[in-house]
Amino acid sequence: MDVKERKKIPRQAMPEQDPRRRRHNYEEVPYGYTEELAVTEAQRCLKCKKPTCMTGCPVNIRIPDFIQLIEEGKFIEAAWKLKEQNTLPAVTGRVCPQEAQCESKCILGKKGEAVAIGRLERFAADYERKSGQVKLPELPPPTGKKVAIIGAGPAGLTVAGDLVKLGHKIVIFEALHEPGGVLVYGIPEFRLPKEIVRAEVNYLKRLGVEIHTDYVVGKAKTVDELLKNGYDSVFIGTGAGLPMFMGIPGENLVGVYSANEYLTRSNLMKAFRFPEYGTTPIRSKRVITVGAGNVAMDSARTALRLGAESIIVYRRSRDEMPARAEEIHHAEQEGVKLMLLTNPVRVIGNEDGRVTAIECLKMELGEPDASGRRRPVPIKGSEFIIECDTVIPSLGNRPNPLIPMTTPDLKTTRWGTLDCDPDTLETSKKGVFAGGDIVTGAATVISAMGAGKTAAASIHEYVMTGKVTKKPKKEEKKEGAEEEKSKK
Ligand code: SF4
Repeated sequence: MDVKERKKIPRQAMPEQDPRRRRHNYEEVPYGYTEELAVTEAQRCLKCKKPTCMTGCPVNIRIPDFIQLIEEGKFIEAAWKLKEQNTLPAVTGRVCPQEAQCESKCILGKKGEAVAIGRLERFAADYERKSGQVKLPELPPPTGKKVAIIGAGPAGLTVAGDLVKLGHKIVIFEALHEPGGVLVYGIPEFRLPKEIVRAEVNYLKRLGVEIHTDYVVGKAKTVDELLKNGYDSVFIGTGAGLPMFMGIPGENLVGVYSANEYLTRSNLMKAFRFPEYGTTPIRSKRVITVGAGNVAMDSARTALRLGAESIIVYRRSRDEMPARAEEIHHAEQEGVKLMLLTNPVRVIGNEDGRVTAIECLKMELGEPDASGRRRPVPIKGSEFIIECDTVIPSLGNRPNPLIPMTTPDLKTTRWGTLDCDPDTLETSKKGVFAGGDIVTGAATVISAMGAGKTAAASIHEYVMTGKVTKKPKKEEKKEGAEEEKSKK
């Protein structure tokens, strides 16, 4: 097929569940490409000699190569190609903000629509999983080196995948009862079915990675104890799970939940499958979610599915909403209402201490602030009240503080993140490396995975030679925005 013909093919849409039906269930919203749609979409790719799309991928996936394999109908081979660089392709194919990464750099996007790289990635990874033809790479002889990984989120799983393939013994310590980090506690089932995360984790286990759940490093054992007890190196990937609140009166009332708690109850604790699972769901009449990132969209869409009227309150305008356009579109399609240029100033409760309403102010946009976005300015006398029984502040998260608190010689920044060498991700403590949100603050799944790859390369060098040399590193684009640099 010549270039002209390829350019004539329109970007293929992904079939998805009807919004009227899906707002009442937890099944995944998009169904994914069929084989036919995937091949057609793959035919759009020009297989550029200098593929600009790859410059937007934090884990350096050979994008034109895997797309070529899909075009040839070699779907399994396409998945294997993806896995050479990416430990979690079925996950990133679903939750990566491709429109701001690989797809934003696709040559076709300059005059029209980019190749749907994320949808093709998801298709190939799903094809492999469903076919059961998951190929395990041949492992080199054991090196005799042992690495502890703290946190089984995207960064930790990536480090584990890269290092186990180099012959090292890998042990992951996860604080929760299920591995996956934000992939299992934060992202709802209708965006990322947990069976997919489990399949990716099982792949690592089959490679020999050992995972201890319900194991809180910093409580059960410290980083120093791990180093004294036979580990040659430690990777810290404990993420950003400390929620930020609004700092307004009434935030301690019953009925105010951080987005983390609200989503964890539903996603990890399976409240949506009560009484099969023991966690009771939070049933509300009207839920106000404050914030407009991906986590806010997830919370608001979960509230809808739990039977509530769901409203998002955001102090800026639609143009500044940090969530992915696709997530905002899905939320609105399902019936989530947006109240823009609106800022909460007080949560109001009754004599029992329960939320009954929220008081807000109308805002207007003023001059641009440090982030380059126009600053929201309150309109005097515009106070108004919205009745509600649940409020979910979704304003982002700070790094988990437990490891820095229990490892005295680990340097932190004034934001509570770990102070690391940006090229090697080595911390101030010898043999200890870190990556993901504990270093950058809340960012994306794929940027955490990119950091995981950098850290894995440094750890490998360190355990084999006792030193780490600086390597020139590709500049990574920082995603997200001020209110909520969501991990999705
Ligand atoms: S830039 Fe676009 S067209 Fe070129 S190889 Fe990458 S995905 Fe294909």
